[in-house]
Amino acid sequence: MKAQVKLGRIAGISIGLHYSWFIIALLIALSLVQHFREVTPQWSSTVIWIAALVTSLLFFAALLLHELAHSLVAKTRGLRVRSITLFALGGVSQIETEASDAKSEFWIAIVGPLTSLVIGLVLLGSAWVNGWKTGTEPATPVISVLVWLGYINITLAGFNMIPGYPLDGGRVLRAVIWWITGNADRSTRVAAQVGQVVAFLFILSGLFRFFVGANFGGLWLAFIGWFLLDASRASYAQVELMAGFRNRRVADIMDADYATVEGHLSLQDLVDEYVLRTGSRCFVVMQNDRITGLITTHEVKKVDRERWSQTSVQSVMRPLSQLRTVAPETPAIQALELMGREDMNQLPVISNGRLQGVITRGHVLRFLSAQTELQHN
Ligand SMILES: [Zn+2]
Repeated sequence: MKAQVKLGRIAGISIGLHYSWFIIALLIALSLVQHFREVTPQWSSTVIWIAALVTSLLFFAALLLHELAHSLVAKTRGLRVRSITLFALGGVSQIETEASDAKSEFWIAIVGPLTSLVIGLVLLGSAWVNGWKTGTEPATPVISVLVWLGYINITLAGFNMIPGYPLDGGRVLRAVIWWITGNADRSTRVAAQVGQVVAFLFILSGLFRFFVGANFGGLWLAFIGWFLLDASRASYAQVELMAGFRNRRVADIMDADYATVEGHLSLQDLVDEYVLRTGSRCFVVMQNDRITGLITTHEVKKVDRERWSQTSVQSVMRPLSQLRTVAPETPAIQALELMGREDMNQLPVISNGRLQGVITRGHVLRFLSAQTELQHN
């Protein structure tokens, strides 16, 4: 989920909105206007609209706090958090790496619903201190806003604790199974399967409500169920994929017969003789039988086309000394993470000071898609 509107940074995490957020924010504001008109018909239109807008903004602030809680705990557990995006069905924290132990996973998952619960209780508590009694209509606009936000945050905490992966509750379930069995992959499979069952129940009860009770809320429930089903299926497939990938080494995936070029070659010759002829985008640069660096079409594109014939490969290549390298026995997943972190598409594979091959994102993708095909057969 990519944010299209960037709001800024909190603790180094960029906060953004997806387009679908605007639609849901409008729907929530409109339904709040409806709600306030029903419960407090004595209010003027202006008061109702202001209350509705303030409430929906505060609702999203609370949602953001929920996601921030996940992200900050992930950060203290040593994981890198890139961004938080709010979208139609809530928020997502883009945590780059997966938790490496069950305890971290447990705390990262549970802190979100806990935060929502605490926010809800604090809001209801302050409404209560200001004279509101449960089951009665709030007396003032401020108390009315507090009560609505209080209930919605508690509902949010409850909904997120449904034990279907990838909801927070499903992650908690996964962490607990992982904790007990010590098997991360199996725990995700179980949690994702429970997630699918929960999703089916959502869809069934939603459709039942819609057709039997002519209740439009039922459609909404079915829609959430369908979304959940899709998400849990995707995470199940991803686990299967990663399980096959996790015990692979760089040597299993890398390209050992990499293409080499001479350093004194001009960029024009490189493009004409090598890139166009082989279709390869990455070449190892040799100088007197020694490897000196890597050149990719990315570096070539940075040079003006008219200067290609006067520019040598070695003057624009990435020298070996500036490149991060991996060993053949490095786990492939670590190489992939390194490429992501350094924003590189390929890494030289070095063993005993000698180049053994090159691993690229393309190799990893090809390997993974071959795996998926195998699974489908
Ligand atoms: Zn959450």
